[in-house]
Amino acid sequence: MKSTCPYCGVGCGVLAKPVNDSVSVQGDAEHPANAGKLCIKGSQLSSTLTSHGRLQAPVVENQQTSWTQALDYVAEKFRQSIEQYGPDSVAFYLSGQILSEDYYVANKLMKGFIGSANVDTNSRLCMSSAVAAYKRAFGSDTVPNSYDDLEETDLMILIGSNAAWTHPILYQRMRAAQKKNPHYKMVVIDPKRSATAGEADLHLAIKPGTDAMLYNGLLAYLARVGKLDQTFINQHTNNFEQALEACPQTLTEVALFCGISENKLRQFYDWFANAKRSISFYSMGINQSNSGTDKCNAIINVHLASGQIGKPGCGPYSITGQPNAMGGREVGGLANTLAAHMEFDATGIDKVSRFWRSNNIAKAPGLKALDMFEAVEQDKIKVLWVIGTNPAVSLPDSDRIKRILQQCECLIVSDCMAETDTTQYADVLLPATGWGEKNGTVTNADRTISRQRGFIQPLGQARHDWWIISEVAKRLGYGDAFQYEHAYEIFREHAQLSGFENNGSRDFDISAFSNITQQQYDSLKPIQWPVNETYPSGKARMFDDQQFFTADKKANFIAITPKLPELNAADKNSLILNNGRGRDQWHTMTRTSAAKKLNSHELYPSVLINPLDAKKLSIMANDLVKIANKNSNTLAIAKLSTSQSPGECYMSIHWNQQFANKTKANNLTQFIADPVSGQPQYKQNRVQAQAVTTK
Ligand code: SF4
Repeated sequence: MKSTCPYCGVGCGVLAKPVNDSVSVQGDAEHPANAGKLCIKGSQLSSTLTSHGRLQAPVVENQQTSWTQALDYVAEKFRQSIEQYGPDSVAFYLSGQILSEDYYVANKLMKGFIGSANVDTNSRLCMSSAVAAYKRAFGSDTVPNSYDDLEETDLMILIGSNAAWTHPILYQRMRAAQKKNPHYKMVVIDPKRSATAGEADLHLAIKPGTDAMLYNGLLAYLARVGKLDQTFINQHTNNFEQALEACPQTLTEVALFCGISENKLRQFYDWFANAKRSISFYSMGINQSNSGTDKCNAIINVHLASGQIGKPGCGPYSITGQPNAMGGREVGGLANTLAAHMEFDATGIDKVSRFWRSNNIAKAPGLKALDMFEAVEQDKIKVLWVIGTNPAVSLPDSDRIKRILQQCECLIVSDCMAETDTTQYADVLLPATGWGEKNGTVTNADRTISRQRGFIQPLGQARHDWWIISEVAKRLGYGDAFQYEHAYEIFREHAQLSGFENNGSRDFDISAFSNITQQQYDSLKPIQWPVNETYPSGKARMFDDQQFFTADKKANFIAITPKLPELNAADKNSLILNNGRGRDQWHTMTRTSAAKKLNSHELYPSVLINPLDAKKLSIMANDLVKIANKNSNTLAIAKLSTSQSPGECYMSIHWNQQFANKTKANNLTQFIADPVSGQPQYKQNRVQAQAVTTK
C-alpha cells in the first residue's frame, strides 16, 4: 500500500506491507519527493506501529466510557460554554500532524457553524512567519518552488536550517547535485557549525538573529555592483526604492552587525551576484523569531531584486517542519485565514458562508496559538480541544503552559497516545486513529498533495479525527453539514470550495477534484497544486508568468529594519540558548521513542557548549549541568564542542517527561512572538549554566 511518511515536511512516499504480525515499510520509488529513499526516521516507521502506550478507549473525568457518552459530554460542554459565554469561549488547537480532511472538518465546525475563529495549530510554531511574508510580498501564501529546483540551482543557500538532520532526503538531493554539478555551491548560514554547515562550501556563523541585516546588505550590494534585474523590478514589483533605502551601504557595517569577517561576507555576496540560479532555503532558524516575518521578506526582497523567482533553480523557498503544515494552511487551520486561502474580508466571508450554507460564520480572525493559551489563562476560553499535539512540551515557557492546561475549565484531548505531557491534564481523552490506520491527504513543502492510506485496522476503539468532530457537530445541531461517511467526501468538498467562484485571484485551487470518486481518491497519485482546468496535472513552479496575486499583479518589496532578538534579563555569565531538532527524533518523541534504533543517537538530554565558555564556567565534558533562567530550570549533560560559537549553547527540543522529567528546552523559552505572524521566538533565550555534579 502506498502512503506518506508522517514526520517531516519533505513528505516522502512509502510502501507499507503487512508481513505476518508486523509491517514492512520501504521508500516508494515512484514518489516525486524521495524516489524510493527514506531517512532513518522513515525507515523505522514499522517499529512505531505498536499498541504500547496507545489510547484505546474514550475517558471522561478519569473514567473509561463509551463513545456515545464521551461525545455527548463534549457536545454538552461546548453548548453550555457557547450559551453562557459566547462562541469565543471555545477553541480548537490543532496540529500539522493531522490530515487535511480532519483539519477541514474542525475548521468548518468552528469558523462556519459555532461562529468563532478560535482555530489555531502547532503549525503556527513552524511556518506562520513564512506565510505572513509570502502574503505581504505576493498577495498570497504561495510557495514558489518545487523540490526539483534544489537540483537545478547553482547556489544553494541554507539559512536557519540544519537540513542534514531536519529534512534529510532533501539534503541528500542537494548533496547529490553538489557532487554532480561542478558549479553548484552550498552556503550555510547558521550560528552553529551544524552537520549541514560542516559540508558547505562556505559557512557564515552569524550572530543569532542577524539574518535580515545579512540579506539587506546583499540587496544593497547587488545594487552597488549593478546586478539588479531592473526590468523585472520595473515591470513586476512595487516599493523597491523604499526597500533599498532601508539597507546598509557598506560591507563593514553588515560584517560588524552579523559578527562575521568582511572577506567571508564578500565571498557570499559575490557568489550570489554572479550566480544565474540561486535558492534561499529557510526554515525554523528564520521563522521562529520575534521578527521572523521581516527576515523572510528580507530574503524575498533579494530574489525579487535579482529576478530570481519563477525560474528553474531560483527562489525564496521556505520549508515546513511538519507533514501537513501546508495542508493546514489550505483548509484554514490558522486563526487568521478563513478557508481555501480566503481571508476574513467581505468577499471571503460571503463566499464561504454561501458555500457552507451557514449564516453563523466567524467574521474576524481568531486567537493565534500564544494568545489562545493566554485566553485560557485569563479564563476567557473555557473549553479547549487539543487534537494531535502535545503543547505541554512544544509551546514556549512550558511550565506556564502546564499551569494553563491544569486550570482550563474543560480540556479535551484527541490523541492516539495515552500518556503524553498534555493528556495528563485532560478532562476528556478521545482515542484517535494513528498513522497506518488513517485515510486522507497531506501537502508537503513543495505543494504536493499526497495520500496517507490506512493499511491496518484501527486499534481498540480509536476513531478518525474527522469522524469524532463530525459527531460532536451533529450533537450541536449542525448535522446536515457534517454527514460524512468517508474521507474522500471531505476532500471533494474542500476541492469544490477551492474552486468556488475562484476567478484566478486565489492561488490555491484544486477544483479539478470537485467530482472525485472514492475510487479515484483511493488511487490518487502525488500532485502539486494548483490542479484545475488550466493545470489539470498540477504545476511545479509558481510565478513563471511574473503574475502575482496582489490587486495589481505585482510583487511587493517590503522595507525591512533589522531587529535583534528580544532577550531576557542578562547575567554576566549568561549564554544564549538556541534549540532545534535532533537527528533521529520527531517532535516530542511520543512516537519515535518507540523505535529503539532512533533512541541510540542521543541517549540522554545534552547541552552543547563551546570549550571557552565551559572553562569560564568550570564545566567539564559530561558534567551534569543545570540550565536556568527566570522561567524555569532544566538538567542536561554537557557536551563540549567548537562547533558551538562562544557565548551560545544548544539543546534539542524533543525530550518529554517520560524520558527526562526535568529536561525540556521549552521550559526556558520565552512567551513572546513575532507581532505580524504570531510565531514564537524559540531561538534566543538567555540562560545561566552551572555544573551540579561531576562524573
Ligand atoms: Fe519521513 Fe522526512 Fe525522513 Fe522523508 S525525510 S522519511 S518525510 S522524516
